[in-house]
Amino acid sequence: MDTNPAPSSERSDFLREIVAADLRSGLHQSVVTRFPPEPNGYLHIGHAKSICLNFGIAEEFAGRCHLRFDDTNPIKEEQEYIDSIEADVHWLGFDWGEHLYFASDYFEQLYEWAIHLIKTGRAYVDDLSADETREHRGTLTEPGRESPWRSRPAEENLDLLARMRAGEFGDGARVLRARIDMASPNINLRDPVLYRIVHAEHPRTGDAWCIYPTYDFAHGQSDAIEGITHSICTLEFQDHRPLYDWFIENLPVPSRPRQYEFARLNLTHTVLSKRVLLRLVNERHVRGWDDPRMPTLSGLRRRGFPAEGIRDFAAMIGVARADSVVEVEMLHHAVRDVLNRTALRRFAVLNPLKVVIENYPQDAVEEIEATNNPEDPSAGSRHVPFTRELWIEREDFMEDPPKKFFRLAPGREVRLRSAYFVTCNEVVKDVDGNVTELRCTYDPSTRGGSAPDGRRPKATLHWVSTAHAVPAEVRLYDHLFRNPYPGADGRDLFEDLNPDSETVLRNCFVEPSLAGLPVGQTVQFERLGYFCPDVDSAPSAPVFNRTLTLRDAWAKLQAQGRHGTT
Ligand code: ATP
Ligand code: MG
Repeated sequence: MDTNPAPSSERSDFLREIVAADLRSGLHQSVVTRFPPEPNGYLHIGHAKSICLNFGIAEEFAGRCHLRFDDTNPIKEEQEYIDSIEADVHWLGFDWGEHLYFASDYFEQLYEWAIHLIKTGRAYVDDLSADETREHRGTLTEPGRESPWRSRPAEENLDLLARMRAGEFGDGARVLRARIDMASPNINLRDPVLYRIVHAEHPRTGDAWCIYPTYDFAHGQSDAIEGITHSICTLEFQDHRPLYDWFIENLPVPSRPRQYEFARLNLTHTVLSKRVLLRLVNERHVRGWDDPRMPTLSGLRRRGFPAEGIRDFAAMIGVARADSVVEVEMLHHAVRDVLNRTALRRFAVLNPLKVVIENYPQDAVEEIEATNNPEDPSAGSRHVPFTRELWIEREDFMEDPPKKFFRLAPGREVRLRSAYFVTCNEVVKDVDGNVTELRCTYDPSTRGGSAPDGRRPKATLHWVSTAHAVPAEVRLYDHLFRNPYPGADGRDLFEDLNPDSETVLRNCFVEPSLAGLPVGQTVQFERLGYFCPDVDSAPSAPVFNRTLTLRDAWAKLQAQGRHGTT
């Protein structure tokens, strides 16, 4: 009888099935995964999928997940990126505990293993130039050709590698290559490069090294050193797996990790390539890595997306072995779901129009009680000052309304949320004919927003007292790329940038309770959407980002029978 059942997960996908089977069969006593970012940029929503997967599996199966920086290319890597990646993984809700590692911690060990490969006849120093190497590599249909340096004696290779390390040669002068098979149908096995000469300061090892291992030579061996059981990566590494296994076979490594591949996340209207994201930043198409339009975790956080929404999204999309494109609306749907439950409701007017309630006492201020969140009674209520002069949304009034417009119009009564019913009696205009003010009356018997005679206006408007309103800047966001498939059909990606991805409104008014709202706390502006204070806020001049509108486009797509993925 099985008295000690292996831990198992409630979720299921092909990776979790593999892990469960390996624990059941006793192949592994416990699961160890890792998330291996290269610190050459900020993390994005695609990385979130990988983080949720690696940390999620470790958590569900009572194992552990390492955070390991793949810092093998000092030219592109920076401490700023290391710091941001650590902060983002924590923000997303995961913790590596004491298991923080760097591939650079293993440089000495990797170097010893390179010597081992030379001594066993499995590696050589090659003097071909980069161009010659490319030319020798062959193509998918033609085998490669062997380098004339391929059969150098081991002693000569050892001597040259030592001199490479000692800094005797310039960048690119020589490389260390594995001796595998120049005729292999898998190009990754055609004597891949193990070490290249790069005279560059490394964020962690400084100038201790001027030769650096390639990703292929560092990754699997780092996994083996750390005792990783399941090395989970994206599909583009599938063709590297034979090489991953070749190193593990041919080196005296302390454990035998295995690599598994899953489909990377692609999102409509979104580019998830650090190279492109870096260009967006450097060419100032956005305010920085954390611009609210960026798909980076820091951008999504600044825009007001809760970490829970991103984790829920990762669970919704699941893990598959085939590439697909997920509609960005699905991410928005997951985020709205969380915000609808958690966001406090507040009043804000983005495009103000003045209302004067002529029969309301001149200097009176009433504290109106307004519900914080109808979805969550425990969120309680707050007081909002109500006075004779208010701001309402300009779009909520029409002088000459069409049939289906039920909001305010001359002679019509509407409800002001949680306050009173008001009727518009007169429209005041400036010399150009623009409406500048509405003269209204209120019905004192409708306090709280309901009438004793049971009559119900067809519209309920939000409002802010002009005397108490806090002026605010509000930034509205739309897709950064207007095309769902940026750069498709051979277009330049940057031609697909949406010129209207950000709209700044500078004449907005928010209720007084919003003045001190902490940066990053997302609230619902009633009837308008979800918003959160931006880091650019000053105490008396808040700036809000629109996180999302209220409309759920994904739910609509689903209702029309379209799926979340294409
Ligand atoms: P680049 O943008 O330069 O190709 P990268 O996105 O692969 O780099 P890494 O730092 O190497 O960046 O990624 C760390 C981990 O995140 C890797 O295991 C990688 O497979 C995974 N990852 C990267 N992009 C995605 C994505 N879009 N969906 C799922 N996982 C991803
Ligand atoms: Mg990568």
